[in-house]
Amino acid sequence: MPVYTSEALVLRTYKLGEADRIVVFLTKDRGKKRGVAKGARRPRSRFTGALEPMTRAGVAYYERELRDLVRINYVEPQCSPLLAAGRVDRSESALGHVGYFAELIDEWAPEAHADERLYRLGASIIEALASGVPIAPLARYFEFWLLRLQGVYPTLSACPECGGAFDGGAAMPPREHQFVCRRCAPPAGGTIVSVDALKFLRAASLAAPDALPSIPLDAGPSRELETAHRRLINVHLEKELKSTRVLRALDVDAARRPEKTATS
Ligand SMILES: [Zn+2]
Repeated sequence: MPVYTSEALVLRTYKLGEADRIVVFLTKDRGKKRGVAKGARRPRSRFTGALEPMTRAGVAYYERELRDLVRINYVEPQCSPLLAAGRVDRSESALGHVGYFAELIDEWAPEAHADERLYRLGASIIEALASGVPIAPLARYFEFWLLRLQGVYPTLSACPECGGAFDGGAAMPPREHQFVCRRCAPPAGGTIVSVDALKFLRAASLAAPDALPSIPLDAGPSRELETAHRRLINVHLEKELKSTRVLRALDVDAARRPEKTATS
């Protein structure tokens, strides 16, 4: 039985039997795998703390003939969202987004088919989070690049209707999944993407995620991109992600919380 070692991102786990877990992970060089982590649910298991979604780790596993499940020898965390949460952003939103990133990669990663660019995107995102990059621009960056790597991001070079520039911003019309310029946008508008949001995308197309703190993105443009990206993701996956519903619930909770003011 050949043993493989690789860098990998943990995507999700689920229970198996009394004491084990099945781990879904994206390897750098051999695509997405599912493996058994023996005894992972026992106290003091060697897998404790290593199987959180979006943990980047060194893994060793062996493949058994005619079986889909590999057997995992070890998972050695190198960069973990738990570390990020301890150092920087402990918010529910940051941790909710970690689940969201993992679910998106899981949905898009083909089984056992190497996709090193997707792996690199995921690894760079979790490293940026660990180094303190704020979660909102990081999430917009991740969605933008994920959709680009899949070849489904709408063109930003010129309006597909008139060939003109997006100098006044863009709009994604209702039931369409491309950007048109504001002159070609229908009166109902659809999802507006402002000049500031487009500026962020252009800068993001040239930068690594750890450069995001120097690329401005206010709350308004971030919302616009979030809405446009959610529409693109839903139409291409043909469903809504579980983690998106979690993020929405967190948003509602945050809105209900009384705000602290300077006078109080
Ligand atoms: Zn146009």
